[in-house]
Amino acid sequence: MDFRAPDDHGMVDACFLGPYGENDSLLEKLVLEFLRDHVYWRRNFHPEDPPAIPTAAAQRPGYLQLEARMRRELHQLSAALKQSVPFHSPRYLGHMVSDLLLPGLAAQILTLPYNPNNVSEDAAPVTVDLEVQVGLQLARMLGYRHDPKLPDCAFGHLTSGGTSANLQALRLALALKGFAVALRAAHVPAEALELPEDDWQAFNLSPADAIALLAQWNEWLAQQPGNERRKWRGRVQAQRLEQRGLHGFLAAHPQLRVPMVLAPATAHYSWSKGLKLLGLGRDRLQAVPQHGMRMDAAALVEMLHACERAGQPVLMAVGVLGTTEYGGIDPIDLVCDARDEAARRGFGTCVHVDAAWGGYLAALFRNPDGSMRTRAEVAEGFEHFPSERVHAAFAALGRADSVTVDPHKLGYLPYGAGAFVCRDHRAMPLLSESADYVFHSESPGDYLAHYRNLGQYTLEGSKPGAAAAAAYVTHKVLPLDHTGFGQLQRHSLLAAEAFHARARKFAADIADVANACVPFEPDSNLVCLAINPRDNTRLADASDFVRRLHDELRCNPKQPLQTREFFGSVTSLHVAAMDPVDAQDVLKCLGLARPDEEDDDALVLLRHTLMNPYLLDRENGISYIDRYFEYLEGQVRARLGT
Ligand SMILES: *Cc1c(COP(=O)(O)O)cnc(C)c1O
Repeated sequence: MDFRAPDDHGMVDACFLGPYGENDSLLEKLVLEFLRDHVYWRRNFHPEDPPAIPTAAAQRPGYLQLEARMRRELHQLSAALKQSVPFHSPRYLGHMVSDLLLPGLAAQILTLPYNPNNVSEDAAPVTVDLEVQVGLQLARMLGYRHDPKLPDCAFGHLTSGGTSANLQALRLALALKGFAVALRAAHVPAEALELPEDDWQAFNLSPADAIALLAQWNEWLAQQPGNERRKWRGRVQAQRLEQRGLHGFLAAHPQLRVPMVLAPATAHYSWSKGLKLLGLGRDRLQAVPQHGMRMDAAALVEMLHACERAGQPVLMAVGVLGTTEYGGIDPIDLVCDARDEAARRGFGTCVHVDAAWGGYLAALFRNPDGSMRTRAEVAEGFEHFPSERVHAAFAALGRADSVTVDPHKLGYLPYGAGAFVCRDHRAMPLLSESADYVFHSESPGDYLAHYRNLGQYTLEGSKPGAAAAAAYVTHKVLPLDHTGFGQLQRHSLLAAEAFHARARKFAADIADVANACVPFEPDSNLVCLAINPRDNTRLADASDFVRRLHDELRCNPKQPLQTREFFGSVTSLHVAAMDPVDAQDVLKCLGLARPDEEDDDALVLLRHTLMNPYLLDRENGISYIDRYFEYLEGQVRARLGT
């Protein structure tokens, strides 16, 4: 086993509470220090106010009873939680979660008793700012303009998770699509701005052109006297898709149709939820073909042409940066090329990158000064990562119209912290609940001021300021470049490469009893493993076999946690929906026959997320990856009676 250590001078060792709780005294010290600090704050608000809870209250029976009940319930909760999934352990290789970063955990605990509500600055004078800063920190990592003095600076905010960030992307894309149509329908004066000739052109402006039009419109409005401004704003508002509803809007514009969303078949199910919720309907979600579980960009180009010919507008093309099931990275550069080429033909659509999983890997690709690192620089110390393809995808992130990235996944922060980031913040007022969707161009410098009422723009109303504090502090302590956060991602990717190599050895070791393979070359730190007993050719039986292996690799509430050696997860490949060449490769390597049409075509795979920095424990020379495969081999042999 290769134990090459990324040379971080011990930095990563201070990042987590640790598998053994090694950093317990550090966390204790921090929690106690800031709890005391909070109490001082309370006392110093108006120290002339006497204590309202009597000093002797703790001796009264009601107090004692309540305290006793509280203790009893807390003890029971604490005991019950011992059945939790041990995310902190290097024996945990399951879902997209690992130990929590101490700076984030401490910042969150520190902030909780102040209970800031990031719905608006009134309820969170400190943490709303921090949330807007987090948006800029992420924007910088992704390669967006992040200087708030620039008129077209990016903007990002936190969400409850990737699901609502993706929904936010759909809302923004739809608002942009409909806006120019509304301007036409409101018969805005020709001297104000030059409008597209017809509804089709207006609906199919590129997002960049739609934002430019919006900016131009706002400038014109700002020059009008107050009553004129209100009148025109009201007229346009009355024509907007958001005002009329999809049905009313389309009835008024018969040239248009409900737009389509193009996403790879392996896209997260939040996309289906989003289309249902927006009333577009799941029928409008079309799967873009894939090769090796990555989007086939040529097929996307073809689909855009076909939609255009059919008079079918496209709301967005979704590229995934780290698919939930296989960690595959779509060719974001080619997806953006496809968008730009279609825009030149007058068939505008937006590109959203769902980087809920892989977004934080972008830190590895950035220098501290914010510049992009070359492939050779990033690749140093890795065996394969990043392929040219993967490097090109990360380099193109700044071209996407918007991005989802989850701090509660590869950002190692507590749930629920997702983030939505868009390339040009001037589009955001289209989402605002107040009719005043103008960012007054008189105050271009005051970027933060626009977002004081953050809840105007977000799906959520009340939202935790503590999550913003956690993300902000974490990004300050571990900057989002290769010297900071990148060090963590480096551990993760090195572990993934070690895991992949060890999986090949595992396949060779058990070849006498079973066929095993890693079905797709991993692009990132998620690696799947397919296993089939040697003499079996039925797909359903192979899936059963893997399901039974997985039963030993997950929590069983009826048994103590310690009866579990390792934790993993599963996913399934739908053979019929796969690229035929890919499907044939997988079936062949496993020795499986193609399932009949009427059979269930789901091939169950073991899925491993490699986030824990101690998978290769360099202190003790233990490879939990080796141990996992030794355990797995034992399980396979035991089940096959060899
Ligand atoms: C996890 C994930 C989501 C959903 O994010 P939640 O935080 O679970 O809501 C969306 N897309 C991708 C690619 C994901 O990995």
